[in-house]
Amino acid sequence: MNVIDNFSATYLEARNKFLDACKERGIVVESNLNDRAKGAQGEDLYMDVARIGPEGAKKVLIISSGTHGGEGFCGSGIQINLLRGGFFKELPADTAVVLIHAINPYGFSHVRRVNEDNIDLNRNFRDYSQPLPENEPYREVHDMIVPMDWDGDARAKAEEEIAAYIEKNGMAQFQAAVTGGQHIKENGIFFGGKEASWTNDTLRAVSKKHAGDAEHLAFLDIHTGLGPYGFGELIYVGDLGGLSRANDWYDNECTSPEDGSSTSAPVTGTINLGVCEMAPNATNTCVAIEYGTLPIMEVLNALRADNWLYAYGDVNSELGRKIKKDVRDAFYCDADDWKEMVWERGHSVVTKALAGLDKS
Ligand SMILES: [Zn+2]
Repeated sequence: MNVIDNFSATYLEARNKFLDACKERGIVVESNLNDRAKGAQGEDLYMDVARIGPEGAKKVLIISSGTHGGEGFCGSGIQINLLRGGFFKELPADTAVVLIHAINPYGFSHVRRVNEDNIDLNRNFRDYSQPLPENEPYREVHDMIVPMDWDGDARAKAEEEIAAYIEKNGMAQFQAAVTGGQHIKENGIFFGGKEASWTNDTLRAVSKKHAGDAEHLAFLDIHTGLGPYGFGELIYVGDLGGLSRANDWYDNECTSPEDGSSTSAPVTGTINLGVCEMAPNATNTCVAIEYGTLPIMEVLNALRADNWLYAYGDVNSELGRKIKKDVRDAFYCDADDWKEMVWERGHSVVTKALAGLDKS
């Protein structure tokens, strides 16, 4: 098996490889159509779900890709390598693995972090019967994050304001204000939405079906864009009671945004909350694997540019094409060494997750 060949250049290619790999292994795939949008090539968009292992398994490992759209090139490559490598051929009798390919198929296809409604799905899982937060820290930075132009005076002024904000408050506070999640500016970045998204409803249904009766649930959600090149940081995202279990499984490598040990700022409304609510009787051990690509300000500026492009710009202009290339590079290092690092780490983490479940 050539590890590199199992990564893809487009959502459509990734989806076809995933479906083919499942077919080769005799795995039936459930395809959930997102009829609210089309892909970049006019294609239909699906969240595809492959289950390996017996019905009613008490231990379930869910591995998901593409929560943040274009970050899916990475997670898809890992999932397809796991399938092609025959990784799940000898699961314990009480264990099932559920691979969810393209949690956010619109973002994957259009190479965006957000979904079709500009929603960051990893900020969308909250109780909408309760009032939404005011997000004062984000309100303070919104205008500098989303200037009216990307190559003129407004952008230049915004950069000066950002530099002054960081000088005054520090980088950590800037990152927290921008990336923590907000529900007040629909055209802003890290917008969590004002209601449950299609992905939210669909992922809950998938989780209930496949893990609703589980006693032990492990969740690995694959991301990119933070931390050192090619390194997969294990960010613990579950309830604090599970942190010691996660560290036991993963050789004390888990970091936590809550105690400042992670490259991620604390965030709200993450997707593991929805998955775990659908498996109410299970212990849950939820980790985001976060693979580094480029330095954080390059990633953040690519996301700002992409946000500006869809709010005010033209995707088919010269500037639009340059921005799309920068966004892609921020999500996905199209280099053999990076893909090999991603796979080696991914393979190792999945092995540890199964061993952890086995002793639960
Ligand atoms: Zn992400």
